[in-house]
Amino acid sequence: MLVDTHCHINFDSYDEDRADVLTRAANVGVETIINPAVDLATSRAILKLIEQHSGIYGAVGIHPNSTAGFVDSMIAEIETMARIPKVVAIGEIGLDYHWKESPKETQWKSFKVQLALAKQLELPVIIHNREASDDVMGILDEWVKDLPPKIKERPGVMHSFSAPEAIAERALAAGFYLGFTGPITYKNADQLRHIAAKVPLDRMLVETDGPFLTPVPYRGKRNEPSYIPIIVERLASIKQVSAVVLGAATTENAFRLFEMTK
Ligand SMILES: [Zn+2]
Repeated sequence: MLVDTHCHINFDSYDEDRADVLTRAANVGVETIINPAVDLATSRAILKLIEQHSGIYGAVGIHPNSTAGFVDSMIAEIETMARIPKVVAIGEIGLDYHWKESPKETQWKSFKVQLALAKQLELPVIIHNREASDDVMGILDEWVKDLPPKIKERPGVMHSFSAPEAIAERALAAGFYLGFTGPITYKNADQLRHIAAKVPLDRMLVETDGPFLTPVPYRGKRNEPSYIPIIVERLASIKQVSAVVLGAATTENAFRLFEMTK
């Protein structure tokens, strides 16, 4: 059994054939999917999906690119949604200096407020970091200092890890897991593979980030959870273990980090 720990299965790009996508995933052993939100509307949509599908779990929160209109009162609704048992994390949250869709100050504010909520609710976080590594790690290093025991050893995941090696080391030291996506299969990703080779087996997660970041040989098409075995095989060869061992380890990690019930 494999877990896709990050797929936006609620997105409308799956509206036409969501049931087929889930069947194709189950046919290759991917029966558990974590669906992260990007704003309040997607958080609400995910609540419906997790109710309808036993294998789908949710995360609620506001993505940095959606924080432009952030106001404190949004936190109350996120808190209410986060208390639902199949909501297993706050996310995806973080900083994005690439798209600049929201001012830096607003991104910082909403990131910190949501981290505080995660701490209060004792939930792990799903971190989005694009070209903001130093600021993200600075904030997270502070945040992990006084975490409650329940999430001390499992504060969250650096989703679709793509930062320098020094950031990987800092994130691991802070207790974070690292999520690997399609780019691990890309020709120009030697640096990422070099980093993956050094990440302990018990801190790795596999994600599609569907519909984005489709692995080779499907690059250019819509991504979907049935491609998770491609990521598993590639990571296995990087770690020089069998795909069975890599798959079992990442599944165990996913269940440990997100405390899902099997
Ligand atoms: Zn995502």
